[in-house]
Amino acid sequence: MRKPFVAGNWKMNTDSHSSVELAEGIVSGSLEVAGKSVTVAICPPFVYLQAVVKAVGNSNVALGAQDIYFEGNGAFTGEISASMLKDSGCVYAICGHSERRHVIGETDELINKKVAAAIAGGLLPILCVGELLSERQASQTNDVVTRQLKEGLAGLSAEKVSAVTIAYEPVWAIGTGLTATPDQAQQVHELIRKLLSEMYDDELAQEIRIQYGGSAKPSNAAELMGQPDIDGLLVGGASLKTEDFLAIIKAAV
Ligand code: PEP
Repeated sequence: MRKPFVAGNWKMNTDSHSSVELAEGIVSGSLEVAGKSVTVAICPPFVYLQAVVKAVGNSNVALGAQDIYFEGNGAFTGEISASMLKDSGCVYAICGHSERRHVIGETDELINKKVAAAIAGGLLPILCVGELLSERQASQTNDVVTRQLKEGLAGLSAEKVSAVTIAYEPVWAIGTGLTATPDQAQQVHELIRKLLSEMYDDELAQEIRIQYGGSAKPSNAAELMGQPDIDGLLVGGASLKTEDFLAIIKAAV
């Protein structure tokens, strides 16, 4: 039985005061369920990790990073390594978010190195995959997701992949207010699970959690998470509002 996993990606939002306030609100509002019936993580901007780690204290709200670099240390200006993230209290690291793929220009090869580095450094990666609107319209969704999944996990053993969460995030649904219908999302989640079963084995495929992301909100969260292969949500905009994020967490239970 897969425990639902709700993660908030704050992107380039909040400040030193509001990041702490938001984290405190999430911790106090999710005390009864976080870590018990639902895994909860929040991913603030790097610069607020240390303030937010204090705010979450020893609660069951975990901390995640929005990105990671694959090298351990050295002359990589502006980058953050797995050991730095661990040292700052992170448990999870988002790898290959669509904004990093399509705004910053990250490739599947780079994302694969990030996933591997996260696992090697003791972090749990959340590997994001998802098609552009033009790709969906050209009936390329399955091909794109298959490529991103296979290349993102290339060279990783089943044991390592058991540390990974997959997030299916159709790019046309991220931050646009357009949500994939539960049916559209379920179809892709089912494909991902089938691919994992082919790449590894059915036991592993049944264990791995696959989140949906793309304009998730309190009004659609329960229906999305009610689909057999949707094991939680990666939430952008709605994770910045305490009430909305808490309502999504509660919809997972
Ligand atoms: C995201 O950033 O991963 C995301 C899904 O954003 P939003 O919920 O705002 O669409």
